[in-house]
Formats: sequence, C-alpha cells, structure tokens
Amino acid sequence: CQDARIARIAAAIRVIPNFPKPGIMFQDITTLLLDTRAFRDTIDLFVERYKDRDISVVAGIEARGFIFGPPVALAIGAKFVPLRKPNKLPGEVISEEYSLEYGKDKMEMHVGAVQAGERALVIDDLIATGGTLCAAISLLERVGVHVVECACVIELPELKGRERLEDKPLFVLVDAA
Ligand code: AMP
Repeated sequence: CQDARIARIAAAIRVIPNFPKPGIMFQDITTLLLDTRAFRDTIDLFVERYKDRDISVVAGIEARGFIFGPPVALAIGAKFVPLRKPNKLPGEVISEEYSLEYGKDKMEMHVGAVQAGERALVIDDLIATGGTLCAAISLLERVGVHVVECACVIELPELKGRERLEDKPLFVLVDAA
C-alpha cells in the first residue's frame, strides 16, 4: 500500500546535521539510492502519478534532479532535459538568475531542448525555500512551456517554499522536520 511505501522511503533518507554548514539539517538521499526497494518505490510513485498526464518533458534540476528525473521520463515516455548550473552546458543556453540565502545563482537550459506548447514536469530531490523550483518554472515558461507540476522527494514545510510557488502544483512524498 502507498503508506508503507512512503514510510520506507522516509526511513531510507539519512539526515546529517550541520552539513554543509552549521544549522542545516542535510537530507541525504544517497542512502535512499542504496535501498533498492525504496528507490524503486520512489520512482514508481512518481510514474503512477504522471503516466497519464500527457507530459512530454521531464526537466531535472542539477544535481539530484538528474537522479530521479530520467527513470521517470523513460517510464512515462517523456524526454529528459537537464537544468544546469552556469557554464556547464556546451550549446547555446537561456538562463535564469535567482537569489539564494547569500548571493545569487543561475540556472541554464539548452536552447531548442523544448518547444513552446510542451507540457513539463519539474523534478528535484527537495524543496526548501522554493527559490530553485521557481527559477526552473520561470525558465520553462519563458520559452512557452506549460509546467504541469513540480515533484520532489522531500519538502521542508517550515520554509514555506510551497507558498512561493503560488498556484503551481507541488507533489512531495515525504515531509521533513
Ligand atoms: P530551495 O531553492 O531553497 O528550495 O533549495 C532547494 C535546493 O537546495 C534543492 O536542489 C536541494 O537539493 C537543496 N537543499 C536545500 N536545503 C537542503 C537540505 N536541508 N538538505 C538537502 N538538500 C537541500
């Protein structure tokens, strides 16, 4: 049943306090990847939700969106598009600047990877403040793509990232404290 699968996924995520800096409770999904059943359940839950939603593109956010995005894309018959950190993609890119807790960052996508009118799912491992997902949504919407939903394995509800996404639907498997 679904609850048992969610419980197994939650139990497989390791929390490392004070990484990468003091005060951060780092949600480490590498232990989820070691648990073959929990990893498969994670992908299956996403596939079950998105297989009949007419999604043509799964956009994965660097770096951990590159782990969960491709198996979902293959299973639902969508293409996979990496949204990368600056100066990683070799072709012509469009980029979106966004603010972090300290300073700014940029997200880039290859020009021509998606076409106006396509329906996208955005995947990352975790939503905290929601800034990263907002940048991904803006990037895709700027080229005329409809973002159907964002999906993450983990949400940190206290940081209210969901509110920052406004009316954009967000699906998560596990809430973390
Ligand atoms: P945000 O833009 O604040 O929603 O941050 C989300 C991005 O930062 C995701 O790509 C996460 O992988 C990463 N991230 C933020 N906080 C954590 C955390 N506590 N544990 C693991 N990853 C995190």
